[in-house]
Amino acid sequence: MQACFFNALERQQAIKDRTPGSYARFTRAQQSLAGGVSSGLRRSARPYPLYFTHGAGSSVVDVDSNKYRDYGLAWGPLILGHAPPPVIDAVSRHLRQGLTFGAQHDLEFEVAELITSVVPCADLVSFANSGTEIVQVALRLARAVTGRRKVLKFEGHYHGWDDSVLVSYHPGRAEIGAAGNSPISVGAGQRQHEDVYVAGWNDQARVEEIFSTHGHEISAVICEPLLCNSGCIPPRKGFLEFLRRYTSHHGALLIFDEVITGFRLQLAGAQGHYGVIPDLATFAKAIGGGAPLSALAGKRDYMNWIASGKVIHAGTLNGNPMVLAAAKATLTTLCEGRESIYKSLWTRGERLRLGLEALLRKRGHSVVTSGGGPVFQVSFMDKPAENYRDTLAANSSMYSDFALAMLGEGELLLPDGRWYVSAAHTDEDIEATLSAAAKVLA
Ligand code: PMP
Repeated sequence: MQACFFNALERQQAIKDRTPGSYARFTRAQQSLAGGVSSGLRRSARPYPLYFTHGAGSSVVDVDSNKYRDYGLAWGPLILGHAPPPVIDAVSRHLRQGLTFGAQHDLEFEVAELITSVVPCADLVSFANSGTEIVQVALRLARAVTGRRKVLKFEGHYHGWDDSVLVSYHPGRAEIGAAGNSPISVGAGQRQHEDVYVAGWNDQARVEEIFSTHGHEISAVICEPLLCNSGCIPPRKGFLEFLRRYTSHHGALLIFDEVITGFRLQLAGAQGHYGVIPDLATFAKAIGGGAPLSALAGKRDYMNWIASGKVIHAGTLNGNPMVLAAAKATLTTLCEGRESIYKSLWTRGERLRLGLEALLRKRGHSVVTSGGGPVFQVSFMDKPAENYRDTLAANSSMYSDFALAMLGEGELLLPDGRWYVSAAHTDEDIEATLSAAAKVLA
């Protein structure tokens, strides 16, 4: 019954009535484009994937001229909002000089210098195009440096779509039931992954147990330091410090996947936020401000393996001037405005998170919010999650109805409960969104 609470069917019909252009395009796209979308997750949008023409600041406009205040921000990259003038200007200027050289140019070291100047673990940097790719570079480097093959990851953490890490990402109840207390080592219903050990997030005892038998085989522990892909679950106090000590003790590398947290939680990413410095860190999303850039940053001793060519890192479009122009403008804006930008991301994000929580609770809903400020999660559940399995208690269909109702009010949310705030969101945006939430809850 709860799923009907927000009058989902009526609201869905009202949105359909307003978005015929998107419906027609989605129907057409499916004839030539597999699934009608370019990334599988986008297919889950209700009532169907919308088509957009342009965005500016905190909002985006669809083909039927409906304007939405955007808290999905392209799943995270748009840290400065849509079409930020300094980034658009920089990219336009560089485009006139050519799309790519497949060779060296000044933006490469200029962007690398910006990264090494603010990211604690970054003595040296390498570029690629997506988060999935750069995680593979990190894992390859860890294998080469340690001479070991295996990796330890955590249930519910996402590190891209490559088979080697799409393991125990979002196992369903049936898979978990079959596994009992053991973490699942099967990726999205696929084959057993022999090279991956899996522990529950925040489960120190399980990490110790795995290391006690397999420590000599483990090249790296990889994690999202703030578990954004499964409910924005923070590390328990001392857990990242434990991972830091334990990996060093056992001769394994510690890799923070900062694809979401990098340049978002603060300029120094999650490693700055939590004060724990990994050996290697991967970045994508905010680093390019919306352009397809990813980066590996790491300590010199390890990155030297790439520098010397002992570890191959290659890619035709790596470090192309289009994306590096966007990254330079984004990172320069973030560096120059660091005090005010991160302060307002946190202040506005927290006002929004706590405001939503209060509104929903006032209406009698069990709701938990986690994460904070620049990226947080809203879940219909009783108590905060400490690991992926706890998140299964959340009523996701109810959240989906809430997101649909908000869409009807011109508020664009991700379907899974994660909210991103950009530097372009104003106090007025936040108050308008809270009013919209109050309206759909009335
Ligand atoms: N790691 C994390 C933590 C991510 O959130 C993502 C993407 N959501 C990836 C890796 C993969 O990045 P991409 O989609 O750019 O391949």
